[in-house]
Amino acid sequence: LVTKLTSDHKTIVPLSDLVSIGGAEIVIIGGPCTVESLSQMETVARTLKSAPIQALRGGVYKPRTSPYAFQGMGSEGLEILASVRQRYDLPVVTEVMAISQIEEIAAAADMLQVGSRNMQNFDLLKALGQAKKPILLKRGLAATIEEFVMAAEYIVSHGNSQVVLCERGIRSFDAYTRNVLDLGAVAALRQITHLPILVDPSHAAGKRELIADLSRAAIACGADGLIVECHPDPEQSVSDARQALCLADMVALVRSLKPIAEAVGRKL
Ligand code: PEP
Ligand code: MN
Repeated sequence: LVTKLTSDHKTIVPLSDLVSIGGAEIVIIGGPCTVESLSQMETVARTLKSAPIQALRGGVYKPRTSPYAFQGMGSEGLEILASVRQRYDLPVVTEVMAISQIEEIAAAADMLQVGSRNMQNFDLLKALGQAKKPILLKRGLAATIEEFVMAAEYIVSHGNSQVVLCERGIRSFDAYTRNVLDLGAVAALRQITHLPILVDPSHAAGKRELIADLSRAAIACGADGLIVECHPDPEQSVSDARQALCLADMVALVRSLKPIAEAVGRKL
């Protein structure tokens, strides 16, 4: 069960020998929405490793709203991730959209992301229960906390206890922000489940100028870390350009989190 047995019951999800989510250390995952080239991913890894970020993100199978939008580099993108992962010694997270992609992605990445649009793809969740890699489960666009927890339960009950929850904003009436970051859900999830919780301020805000404040609030609220979109040349991002931080802003953001992490008894 993903529900807590005691108030201090907590699951720790290791991504590598050095990096675990849910322990004393806050984990920051950074990288572009979409993997676009080897040089892009190398620039991100090289610039952010000392920020420090603990893991890299980058989508190669992309759930785009329009079927005419770029759908991701696929296997070629996975090769880029595998190469950067090894050369920069950074674990990588990438999205899995279909059961048929699990084997290939599990061979290249350290953590498999289930995107918001697939949070209730129960066949995918069951299949990921058999995967031997940690899963980053993003909250559905309009999923209740109960539905979110039950989606995690699908993965755990099918054999994979290495699940990290991710609050990434929910739909509401106001289009000023892309979604509304639900920190109330983070506080509630910390009480009811033992799984680690990451916050994705990027897809919540949809605007880069809001991301630093939301990130700091998330850490203050007890999140175990963040997953943040950033790009060497944000305006040129093939997807989610408006919310991409430049790498200098990403470094500054990570540095600004340190005192907040310490104030809540965590390390960074
Ligand atoms: C992403 O992480 O790039 C993404 C598509 O996120 P979400 O599923 O939260 O929309
Ligand atoms: Mn994105």
